[in-house]
Amino acid sequence: RRDELRAWASRPTASADGRRVEIAANIGQLEDVQKALDNGAEAIGLFRTEFLYMGRDRLPTEEEQFRSYKYVLEKMAGKPVVIRTLDVGGDKELPYLGLPRESNPFLGRRALRFCLSRPDVFRPQLRALLRASRFGNLKIMFPMVAVLEELVEAKRLLEEEKQALVSSGVEVADRIEVGIMIEIPSAAVSADLFAEEADFFSIGTNDLIQYTMAADRMNETVSYLYQPYHPSVLRLIRHVIDAAHAAGKWVGVCGEMAGDLTAVPLLLGLGLDEFSMSAGSVLPARERIGSLSHRDWQTLSKQALTLSGSEEVQSFVQARMEGRQ
Ligand code: PEP
Ligand code: MG
Repeated sequence: RRDELRAWASRPTASADGRRVEIAANIGQLEDVQKALDNGAEAIGLFRTEFLYMGRDRLPTEEEQFRSYKYVLEKMAGKPVVIRTLDVGGDKELPYLGLPRESNPFLGRRALRFCLSRPDVFRPQLRALLRASRFGNLKIMFPMVAVLEELVEAKRLLEEEKQALVSSGVEVADRIEVGIMIEIPSAAVSADLFAEEADFFSIGTNDLIQYTMAADRMNETVSYLYQPYHPSVLRLIRHVIDAAHAAGKWVGVCGEMAGDLTAVPLLLGLGLDEFSMSAGSVLPARERIGSLSHRDWQTLSKQALTLSGSEEVQSFVQARMEGRQ
């Protein structure tokens, strides 16, 4: 079985009827890059940079960050690397910042909200990313975008740092794609507006599900409502994919759903371009995609989205996968 799976490591990802998609890996630590490559990941779809900031007693310097980003970019040797700016807050605390306690941290000043309020933290990260950009195929991604103004402001800061670096003689890649995570329902619903300002979307289903269902992803007493296959979640995903494609942009999923073998047929059918997951899920997901007809799942996904609930969707997919009606 392991050998069978290993055979998928060197194959490109395509459905049985030839639709090409990309399977990428999510990483947190630098050691994860090798795991991603060993498992045949075609890209890094999410580098959670908060791990550079956690488990220590002060902020990482611009230089430390630059070295980490350069390492990942060089190691991936021209394959795409999506680096997400700091996503602190919610479940990820940085005690040394001494931030005030919030009664609803998941609805509080996390991720990009925090970064925009602390340019002294944000700008060094942007500079480190820009300086590393010439060592590979970097794409920058902002997390937890709720309104367009946040994206516009983040891009303005990035452009300012870029100009400053270039005028001081530092080499920066000409073209760096800048995308956003879609993990707040407002961004999903208004994806058409965001598509005009973003080069790509990556749907963060871990958070998108919790915010859509109003069910804390860490709270077991409401975990029965945390439903990846609920039609309302799937309809949001469909809307985001359609909006991105209408604007000529690509769209991925980097939440757990991307590597979930029951969700994969639905996401493929809805037209997802990139699936980003933990390294260990890459080969099973590639094998699964190889066994599916994209054309069939285009139709089946449409049907699944008309079902009344999560369990119905799940049994529908499982029945089709087993070839039952
Ligand atoms: C997500 O929300 O789906 C995601 C990928 O980000 P994180 O799990 O780091 O919040
Ligand atoms: Mg998230």
